[in-house]
Amino acid sequence: MNPSIIKPSSANVTLRLPVMEAFYTIQGEGHHTGKAAYFIRLGGCDVGCVWCDVKDSWDATAHPMVDVESIVNTAAEFPSQIAVITGGEPCMYDLGLLTASLREKGFKTHLETSGAYPVQGDFDWVCVSPKKFKSPLEEVLKLADELKVVIFHPSDFEWAESNAKGVGKECKLLLQPEFDKSSKMMSSLVDYVKAHPQWSISLQTHKIIGIP
Ligand code: SF4
Repeated sequence: MNPSIIKPSSANVTLRLPVMEAFYTIQGEGHHTGKAAYFIRLGGCDVGCVWCDVKDSWDATAHPMVDVESIVNTAAEFPSQIAVITGGEPCMYDLGLLTASLREKGFKTHLETSGAYPVQGDFDWVCVSPKKFKSPLEEVLKLADELKVVIFHPSDFEWAESNAKGVGKECKLLLQPEFDKSSKMMSSLVDYVKAHPQWSISLQTHKIIGIP
């Protein structure tokens, strides 16, 4: 991977952001599963997860730069008051203006991040999904309302526990099977959560029911 084609190049990143897609749907995974939400998926990611299901997001230059005002006005056309900012890795950008503008419109701002970059913006809910390919920052783990660890391999349970040491007491702890490995990993996942009930299982229900 050539990082030079992945990093954002615009000098005006706080006013315009590379938007891969934005859509209104149901949050399919994590603590807020089942709630209607407007998703804003930003392009650009250099974390490099081998099982990434949005590899098209990696190259920020492949996605149009959109004015924050336009992003927020489009979001406000939908009735949900939850805006989920995801990626890619959205924390490669200063999200201060985007989150402030969403809040002005009455949205709760939710973040989905690997934790690899500092969080710049005001969020009502921070979901950190740490990746072995680029470890999360300690400062971001401390902000997590939800720690969601993808289980792809048995060694990922240990990775989950090492990250759980860095989050606050109130943080929700979730283990989520990587979708293509779900059937293979589910039995050990169930056994693990039964033995370590501080964790819960998160499923990618949007994939199960066939929505974005
Ligand atoms: Fe894909 Fe997310 Fe990993 Fe980036 S952090 S490679 S977008 S799964």
